[in-house]
Amino acid sequence: MYIGGCLCGAIRFEITGPIRNIVYCHCSQCRKVQGSAYATNGIVNAADFQITQGEDSLSYYGETAEQGKYFCCRCASPIMSKNAAFADQVRVRLGTIESMISERPSAHIFVSSKAAWDEIPDDGLPRYDEHEPGR
Ligand SMILES: [Zn+2]
Ligand SMILES: [Zn+2]
Repeated sequence: MYIGGCLCGAIRFEITGPIRNIVYCHCSQCRKVQGSAYATNGIVNAADFQITQGEDSLSYYGETAEQGKYFCCRCASPIMSKNAAFADQVRVRLGTIESMISERPSAHIFVSSKAAWDEIPDDGLPRYDEHEPGR
């Protein structure tokens, strides 16, 4: 099991299953949400993801009601994103997880829209211009 939470501590969550498809996403949205060169995201079964504290502090931002991001309204930590087309999945930002994570990143994605100032390290992982194959 994994536990995590936001920066201010209002929101706590737990994950009772594996984290799949961990990727470094260099897309322009992830860069803005994260305020950094990329975001490290993983997929969790929605049934395995529970907010255990502070659900009332969870704010939503989405260009549509179907796809959007949930973050803490007090400290702005990005907690997860959801897409109605994949309702059985939650995408989590790995930096909010406090437990040791046994799974490892498998790819860099949206490398075609990476920041011009960012040099992706030679870490041996495959790089894709858009989503990794199979998504
Ligand atoms: Zn917070
Ligand atoms: Zn992205």
